Amino acid sequence: MALATSISSPQLRHCSSSVPPPRRRPWRRLRPAAAVAASATATPPSEGNIVIVGAGVAGLATALALRRLGVGAAVLEQGEALRAGGTSLTLFKNGWRVLDAVGVADELRAKYLRIQGMRMRSPAAGGRDLREFSFEEEAPGQEVRAVERRVLLETLASKLPPGTISFSSKLKSIAEQGPDGTLLELEDGRQILSKIVIGCDGVNSPIARWMGFSEPRYVGHMAFRGLAEYADGQPFEPKVNYIYGRGVRAGFVPVSPTKVYWFICFNRQDPGPKITDPVALKSEALELVRGWPSDLLAVMRSTPEGAVVRTPLVDRWLWPGLAPGASSRGGRVVLAGDAWHPMTPNLGQGACCALEDAVVLARRLAPAAAGGGAGAGVVEAAMRAYETERWARVFPLTARAGLVGALVQWENPAVCAARDGVVIPRLVRLGPFLEHTNFECDLIEPAPQSP
Ligand SMILES: Cc1cc2nc3c(=O)[nH]c(=O)nc-3n(C[C@H](O)[C@H](O)[C@H](O)COP(=O)(O)OP(=O)(O)OC[C@H]3O[C@@H](n4cnc5c(N)ncnc54)[C@H](O)[C@@H]3O)c2cc1C
Repeated sequence: MALATSISSPQLRHCSSSVPPPRRRPWRRLRPAAAVAASATATPPSEGNIVIVGAGVAGLATALALRRLGVGAAVLEQGEALRAGGTSLTLFKNGWRVLDAVGVADELRAKYLRIQGMRMRSPAAGGRDLREFSFEEEAPGQEVRAVERRVLLETLASKLPPGTISFSSKLKSIAEQGPDGTLLELEDGRQILSKIVIGCDGVNSPIARWMGFSEPRYVGHMAFRGLAEYADGQPFEPKVNYIYGRGVRAGFVPVSPTKVYWFICFNRQDPGPKITDPVALKSEALELVRGWPSDLLAVMRSTPEGAVVRTPLVDRWLWPGLAPGASSRGGRVVLAGDAWHPMTPNLGQGACCALEDAVVLARRLAPAAAGGGAGAGVVEAAMRAYETERWARVFPLTARAGLVGALVQWENPAVCAARDGVVIPRLVRLGPFLEHTNFECDLIEPAPQSP
């Protein structure tokens, strides 16, 4: 059932921009000329008393969930367009529940294969199967699909009113302005005073830094990712393929009838210099898995130059009493997604959790923000309730993802032999392992007067 609230026009005026606003006339419109609108119609950015920083998974899903609840938000994105690069994200059933809730899941389901199971191999065991799982048998009701990040973002954005996203709008600094709200200053000099700011600005979030969070911690391994293309159709069964070596593991997942996602995680003491040469990137990746099963190598070789990325893996554990809260002391700024809880991708949960954050935050915030009042106490209480609810979910998950990564990146030959001989073939149980993907989420029916 929706917590639908309609938006009133005074409320829409609570977001402003342009040159520094005079003290007593804070609410100005975002300047259309300075913003590149998301839609081809290039209409001015929308106004609201909520500004979301970052048009990634968290930012767009939050904007969409709020919109379905009848509350408008403006989204600021530093890029000139939605992120076109990136490979794919494997979304589990919790991610799909949220995509259902915001009304985009079926559009995506039509494009991406439902993964039926998992196959685990080891080069040390001659590439033979260590174990094969069927989701249907071991984890009934599980839904796993890898989606192209670009398409996920485009799909979410397409459901927002034209002009909601202001591109080329990089946040430079942020400052509390007492009861007026929070002042956001952009790189190009524009200033925006907003009642509520939602920081969805990713792993290197300047808003999280401003709120006192430590920098994310490099966990000692890096990832290569790529998206292979098969114009005439890819040949694989819809299964996740994992191959476990010593300090190196790789995998591939069919994404669609013509695309296959692959990854390699490898230990490295420090991330080293950034490599931008696409040929060098691909050959470094191939070198890491030289002699590994030929299907993996074939997938990697079918990847266009430029569709391979290398990323240092980081996380930040939200220790109680040590980490700041997700919402600022003034109760005007709140974080979602990687900006709050960067986690390693070992459980495939970063984007899924960003989606969960979006619906929980929107449901908490919408009633508080509706009606134009956005009274500080009500908003702060809504932010705190979100933080409490989500902390209990994301802290253990971040820790678990980190621990799983540490275990599967073991290099010790005896430990790897035990993993290949006993743990994977006899002990791993997929159902309990995937319990973290349980997440209840009602549909958000569109409000009668969605902005
Ligand atoms: C190797 C790897 C594999 C992964 N695989 C999976 C997976 O299979 N499944 C899964 O669920 N998750 C996966 N993840 C995690 C997932 O990518 C992230 O959790 C997810 O992208 C977080 O979304 P977000 O919106 O919080 O951040 P982002 O997607 O990073 O979006 C942040 C946005 O903010 C913008 N921004 C940043 N700074 C500013 C600024 N100053 N001003 C304006 N805009 C700004 C950025 O341009 C960007 O558009 C993986 C991560 C890695 C590293």
